[in-house]
Amino acid sequence: MIPFNIPTHAGNEEKYLKQAMKNRKLSGDGLFTKKCQGWFEKNLQCPKALLTTSCTHALDMSAILAEIKEGDEAIIPSYAFPSTASAFVLRGAKIVFLDIRPDTMNIDEKKIEGAITGKTRAIVIVHYAGISCEMDAIMDIARRHGLLVIEDAAQAVMSKYKGRFLGTIGDIGCYSFHETKNFTCGEGGAIVLNSKRFFERAEIIREKGTNRAKYFRGEVDKYTWSDIGSSYLPSELNAAYLYGQLEMADKINKDRLSVWNSYYQRLKPLENIGCVELMSIPEDCEHNGHMFYIKTKDLGERTRLIKYLKKHGIMTTFHFLPLHSSTAGLKFGRFHGKDRFTTKESERILRLPFYYGLKEKDVEKVVKRISGFYR
Ligand SMILES: *Cc1c(COP(=O)(O)O)cnc(C)c1O
Repeated sequence: MIPFNIPTHAGNEEKYLKQAMKNRKLSGDGLFTKKCQGWFEKNLQCPKALLTTSCTHALDMSAILAEIKEGDEAIIPSYAFPSTASAFVLRGAKIVFLDIRPDTMNIDEKKIEGAITGKTRAIVIVHYAGISCEMDAIMDIARRHGLLVIEDAAQAVMSKYKGRFLGTIGDIGCYSFHETKNFTCGEGGAIVLNSKRFFERAEIIREKGTNRAKYFRGEVDKYTWSDIGSSYLPSELNAAYLYGQLEMADKINKDRLSVWNSYYQRLKPLENIGCVELMSIPEDCEHNGHMFYIKTKDLGERTRLIKYLKKHGIMTTFHFLPLHSSTAGLKFGRFHGKDRFTTKESERILRLPFYYGLKEKDVEKVVKRISGFYR
């Protein structure tokens, strides 16, 4: 059997877990949390990163930091994860869903400007499969209209756009360390703050609305309730596990890219004869080998292929369902323009087994079976 995912395990996780246990400091913001945050700040060149309990919580924090209030609007691609939209609905925003580009499955930047109203406050984008949105165009629109850009970079840790790391280009970036992502601690995330003006408030929101961080640094003599907030900081155990992977990030990234390239080269002949469509990487993007998907002709063909591969011990899966036509999407949002690609393209996506350490011979097996199906 070839599973769809095996959570990343780099080797030093147990060692660091034991160290964290020995330190007798298990709550948040200890040594390993600092090490992880320092890793992001140094290696991804961002001014500030804070570990969170999930990417969902990083998105929740970003909606609070964006000061979203009842009646505001947030522009979001319909092809996204529920948390991407839910964070803004929780603050009272109406979601304006946009169509995607069929080549990257990312928000169609050309549709953004037409969707802006007097109520728009934020553009929330997803770098699907670790492939960058068209950031120059998006940042230009946001700056001209005075809007914030929040990057849902859950899948995009270490990916780049024109040499800059995804998550560090907009005003705020959000990462995920869920077990399906490139680097994991089971459940976890990070919020990347690319502007100093968010630093102080983010610390408070993350610490139950208290100024505890300031108090520990000796900057204030009382630790009090100062703002709204919640418990968004992970335990040191999660941070220790994650650090074991971050210190090996280059090795993990290289391995994933080689799996990706192997799939691409082996499947190219099938694309050339018109059976499947492969992913396309824009020139300005350096991706992180987060996933490999193919596109089938349509939903029916995809369902048959998933079944066929499963029968031969190969686990594959589809991905996001359009948000605008979901139960919550209908209630909390509206679609701007026409759904030309979101529904149609999402029905064609089939994600192949992909994980750190996936063997070349297993990639070969998967591709052989896919070829067998089309024969
Ligand atoms: C995985 C994912 C999330 C959610 O991440 P969690 O850490 O599980 O909360 C959000 N957005 C996107 C695009 C994702 O892929």
